Amino acid sequence: MSKIINAIRGMNDILPDDIYLWQYIETTLREVFASFGYREIRFPVVEKTQLFKRSIGEVTDIVEKEMYTFEDRNGDSLTLRPEGTAGCVRACIENGLLYNQTQRLWYLGDMFRYERPQKGRYRQFSQFGVEAYGFPGPDIDAELIAMNAHFWRRLGLAEHFTLQINSLGTSEERKNYRQALVSYLQTHEQALDADSQRRLSSNPLRILDSKNPAMQAIISEAPQLLDYLGEASTQHFHQVLRYLDNAAINYEVNPRLVRGLDYYSHTVFEWVTERLGAQNTVSAGGRYDVLVEQLGGKPTPAMGFALGVDRLVVLLQECQQLPAKQTTQVYLIMMGEAAKQQGFKLAETLRSSLPELRLLMHCGGGSVKSQFKKADKSEAQIALIIGEDEAAAEQVTIKYLRETKPQQTLAQDQLQQLLVAHFQ
Ligand code: ATP
Ligand code: MG
Repeated sequence: MSKIINAIRGMNDILPDDIYLWQYIETTLREVFASFGYREIRFPVVEKTQLFKRSIGEVTDIVEKEMYTFEDRNGDSLTLRPEGTAGCVRACIENGLLYNQTQRLWYLGDMFRYERPQKGRYRQFSQFGVEAYGFPGPDIDAELIAMNAHFWRRLGLAEHFTLQINSLGTSEERKNYRQALVSYLQTHEQALDADSQRRLSSNPLRILDSKNPAMQAIISEAPQLLDYLGEASTQHFHQVLRYLDNAAINYEVNPRLVRGLDYYSHTVFEWVTERLGAQNTVSAGGRYDVLVEQLGGKPTPAMGFALGVDRLVVLLQECQQLPAKQTTQVYLIMMGEAAKQQGFKLAETLRSSLPELRLLMHCGGGSVKSQFKKADKSEAQIALIIGEDEAAAEQVTIKYLRETKPQQTLAQDQLQQLLVAHFQ
């Protein structure tokens, strides 16, 4: 036998027994998007490397050490998308979607980051993203946050989530704050880890996003960005909070929340949960009013968030909020060639007339006993049997596999009625 080739570390297979959780999340979120009037957009998995460098920021974890970058056969530098916002903005500019119009968009797709794999942190992971363009006001910020609250409620997870929110103000305001932050951090320079020392000159706000526990004490005493916001930014932030208050959406203002990407301004938020250990953020986003212009479009206010589906799946499992599985309802057993021909035809007829019915037709022959074993394993509630006698009389025998009800034999053309009555 040849040596087995394994998958790449941190890139997972999702097996048929687990897929129902993913499908459940996808169906639920699609319903919420539709109810909020958001439309789906799809864009490529690979983009020019420059797109991510220019948008996410050169001095961020993602660009510095997490991107899957390679040269294609032309020698062009390409990157597997580490997030969706950059590609979404690129697609909107390129296709003229931002020209004198607003857009409410969502997407679902796999993202790629070279991280240290652990529970809730993978190298290929799935994100739902939402982006709204052309809305400058706090109303859309609140709308996107409220949308998240609807997800949690619909999935039965509302009690496990806390909303953290902050404002990053404008780049001008952040510049003033940066000076204060750097002065403060310089007085603690010895205690900073290597990453933070490096960032002190290149991108000091990133230090606030450090995951290193040893850094937390210094970070918690740092000056707060909220104190450096001007009148307009403060007002914008307070209006967002007022929308949330009115809609009874609880939040914690976290003055140290900065997010791991450079393009954010004004409102930023994260939905965190106690139930996932260190990987506790499930959904996160914010306003990014300068990015469209930075990528060559005309200035367009923008707000978005991304939700990690892998973490949401783990959370559903942790909290035992599992949806019902869609198992087989009917298993068709046939004995002999004539029965197989009739059974195949019967299955075709049923699938046309009852498109919702989940019917498994036995394939490959075998003894009645072995076919019944498979029927039982399929979790079907009903076995349909066409033996030689039934085939001769164009009948079918119905056997109830999960309840004590006598079996019955009837004409094949009466079966549909019985199934409708049973499964309605
Ligand atoms: P973290 O702080 O956990 O590294 P992040 O700030 O890098 O997250 P974002 O870029 O904001 O994450 O992505 C939004 C969401 O995507 C995260 O909240 C998380 O649910 C999910 N996510 C991000 N990176 C991963 C990953 N490597 N594996 C699984 N999910 C991820
Ligand atoms: Mg990260």
